[in-house]
Amino acid sequence: MKLDCLVIAAHPDDAEISVGGTLLKLAQAGKKTGIVDVTRGELGTRGSAEDRALECSKASELLGLSVRHNLDAGDGRVSVTPALREELAALIREHAPALILCHHTDDPHPDHAASAQLAREAWYLAGLGKLAEEAGGAPAHRPERLYEFLSHTPFDPTFVVDIEPVWEQKLELIRAYASQLAPKDLADKGDHFLYGADILQRMETKARFYGERAGLRFGEPLLHKGPLPAFDPLLSP
Ligand SMILES: [Zn+2]
Repeated sequence: MKLDCLVIAAHPDDAEISVGGTLLKLAQAGKKTGIVDVTRGELGTRGSAEDRALECSKASELLGLSVRHNLDAGDGRVSVTPALREELAALIREHAPALILCHHTDDPHPDHAASAQLAREAWYLAGLGKLAEEAGGAPAHRPERLYEFLSHTPFDPTFVVDIEPVWEQKLELIRAYASQLAPKDLADKGDHFLYGADILQRMETKARFYGERAGLRFGEPLLHKGPLPAFDPLLSP
């Protein structure tokens, strides 16, 4: 199945937290979207693997995803190997999206940083004709755009997507991951999270901060490495 946008994220729920609003807007515009989760998030402190799988399928439904794959590359152990990047490159060729969204390469979570590197390398390899021929299946395809999304480390975004129209839906989407939001027991103070347990509050703070910088109420920041052609209507009519 051909897609317009493919998100590559380390753990189930990363895509929703970072670009859930962007995905909701794309779906509402009739675009086909998909997610590749690199791991199953099985090392997570909260929620069993079964709970998380159910939550993930509920979130996929809310997003109206056309496809969701899981590379099962091992939570906490993601590393870029030739086999893994060729597996991902094959998925990119198969779905031939115009746009890829992946983690920012600078992120303290090693799975996020490795998944970003994996996405970049697979994006490049997907465009190599001889590799595609060797692998069989879909022809070479290198998506025109690859943007990074923000998880932990701040960056100066190239774009901020206006997610105000879908803000309530985004909250509902994150609440689908109920096991991640609720403490497991009395001892669980959320200390395993990098900046504490209040995922929804942190998400709102970022959405308001990056939105404000672009004159919006709620925004999701995206980064393109290097300059882009002008898209200003005066400069590129
Ligand atoms: Zn993650």
